[in-house]
Amino acid sequence: MDVMKATLMYGAGDVRVETVPDPVIKQPTDAIVRVVRSCICGSDLHPYHSMPTSTLGSPMGHEVIAVVEETGSEVTGLSKGDFVVAPFAFADNTCTLCREGFHTACPNGGFYGSEETGGLQAQWARIPQASGSLVKVPDVNPDSADEGLLASLLTLSDVYLTGYHAAHMADIKPGQSVTVVGDGAVGLSAVLAAKQMGAEQIILMGRHQARTDLGREFGATDVVAERGAEGVAKVMDLTDGFGSHAVLEAVGHMPAYEQSYGVVRPGGIISRVGVPQYEEAPVGFGSLFGKNARLAGGPAPVRAYLEEAITQVLAGEIDPGKVFDRTVSIDEVPAGYVAMDDREALKVMVTP
Ligand SMILES: [Zn+2]
Repeated sequence: MDVMKATLMYGAGDVRVETVPDPVIKQPTDAIVRVVRSCICGSDLHPYHSMPTSTLGSPMGHEVIAVVEETGSEVTGLSKGDFVVAPFAFADNTCTLCREGFHTACPNGGFYGSEETGGLQAQWARIPQASGSLVKVPDVNPDSADEGLLASLLTLSDVYLTGYHAAHMADIKPGQSVTVVGDGAVGLSAVLAAKQMGAEQIILMGRHQARTDLGREFGATDVVAERGAEGVAKVMDLTDGFGSHAVLEAVGHMPAYEQSYGVVRPGGIISRVGVPQYEEAPVGFGSLFGKNARLAGGPAPVRAYLEEAITQVLAGEIDPGKVFDRTVSIDEVPAGYVAMDDREALKVMVTP
């Protein structure tokens, strides 16, 4: 049997690259793809901090651009050699919930990273619901394409479109004030998306200068390095004491949520895309109720936004790939986790 390299996590801080059997078609709706680029996600750092020790190992990675190598008997619209972007969640793209734009809730869909689905920080991958999930990138040869273009296409698998989803769910309108909480790759992507939607003021809350500099390049008009009450006060100063119409929360920890309801304007929307690391959060008078604030957000239905975003990237209208500041080979993936965890790297790309 052929063997490929894939990334497995065996517990907090324990990431290994191992040889595993090549993926094979299991369902007639599957495709097998050859990975062109994958990457490490900020959300991969949550298990990296907290995963209990496992003897089996969890397959890692959910972001990929790839070339279709084989398709199951029920796959339509894709053929061998197609260059594709795979959303971080697979979906049939035909059911009621997909048609309503919430592909991450598709009853026939799911997520990578289980023993059943495998991970995408690998050399090859099985993509379930391939017809509904994979979107072709026209007229690009991945083996000769510009690295910057590949980087931007890779962000459409998750990070940019997760930032976009935050902005979309916050219903940003031209001329509004937006605060983005978090200067990780998703937060910076949310800045770029808010800019695309015509936000007039974009306040980025973050304190890593290299990151906030990229945030300014993406459209942030102000940077607030302070956190907690001090950070909230700074944002209130910048918004004439009113707060922002939209708050895009891209962290997932309680202090980020607290900052969010601290700076949201009365009648405004908090949109969360940082995976919450808490089960309970205040919604009472002092947080949401008193301000008539709405809470939105969740796992991004990347597939809903993918065609349009590919077109924008190919036209050079957006360059979200700038969030990648390091590239490692598949063998170096464990070092990539260390670099992201130590905040030496903003986002790490992986070559197969
Ligand atoms: Zn569906």
